[in-house]
Amino acid sequence: MSDPLKVVIIGSGPAGLTAAIYAARAGMNPLVFEGSQPGGQLTITTDVENYPGFPDGVLGPQMMEMFRAQAQRFGAETRFEHVTRVDLAQRPFKIWVGEELTLAETVIISTGASAQLLGLESEKELLGRGVSACATCDGFFFKDKSVIIVGGGDSALEEASFLTKFAEKVTVVHRRDEFRASKIMQMRIFDNPKIDVKWNSIVTALTSDPQNGGLTGVVLTDTQTGAKEDLPIDGVFVAIGHKPNTELFKDYLPLDAKGYIVTEGKSSRTAVEGVFACGDVQDSEYRQAVTAAGSGCTAALDAERYLAGL
Ligand code: NAP
Repeated sequence: MSDPLKVVIIGSGPAGLTAAIYAARAGMNPLVFEGSQPGGQLTITTDVENYPGFPDGVLGPQMMEMFRAQAQRFGAETRFEHVTRVDLAQRPFKIWVGEELTLAETVIISTGASAQLLGLESEKELLGRGVSACATCDGFFFKDKSVIIVGGGDSALEEASFLTKFAEKVTVVHRRDEFRASKIMQMRIFDNPKIDVKWNSIVTALTSDPQNGGLTGVVLTDTQTGAKEDLPIDGVFVAIGHKPNTELFKDYLPLDAKGYIVTEGKSSRTAVEGVFACGDVQDSEYRQAVTAAGSGCTAALDAERYLAGL
């Protein structure tokens, strides 16, 4: 069996690839398992306009290619492979892709979180073409347009308020007749003349333009009466929660009540020495590319210091 690697990074969004850049430059020869969505959530958005250093914006997939190229330039190995099993009970840690086993002295987990989607036909194809799971990323593109936001939690209502900076009209579509969100958030949207609420409603279909493929509207179904309504709309924002991708690690690492990996203070240290976590997999709050990248840097520095102390 080959010798353990100094560091294996699992996940390839801004956190994982930033960790790879720092780890490679520190001479740790990182191996990155990119996972089933190489580049992470940014690869399903279009323009990224809030990442510093790109005054004219940059396409999400293009930016992630740049992250990858930068990591490779310093010697990081990146593989389009999906980790299927880990054993973090003792060092060296074990990481499997199918039957293939890799041993590692340290592991950096950056598997991110996945936005929950509605599960409708053509929803994934319409991401970036009228459907979005991130108001902070895409709201700007809906200047003076009409949009709906689906969900009744704090995210949906916070994003509804945010969207009124751009959109002319925002309709919150919620499946029940009361919000889950905090009272203060509710007051804010009830007081906002640009926001309407459709209670007891779910989106049951998305309609698109057969010519350019962009979203043209939704079908809403009343959960009480079953009545259907065609609603022409420019944008649909889905804010029904995120799910951290922690399934692989749940037997080894403590997770918080929402399933995110618990890290210690400002560090990326998990409860297992030598295992670090960064990016959205340990952050349910900020969830930005730039904060994820920052935490990836932290994880690489933590891993480097840990190895130096062995
Ligand atoms: P959440 O609290 O889990 O709310 C999800 C919402 O989506 C719920 O209203 C739920 O409806 C609805 N929903 C779930 N699945 C659905 C489906 N398939 N179709 C239609 N609607 C669906 O998630 P979140 O809003 O993302 O918030 C996550 C956590 O972060 C919460 O603890 C929240 O307080 C916190 N947060 C805080 C802030 C803040 O304080 N500024 C901002 C954002 C988030 P039901 O209500 O019927 O279940």
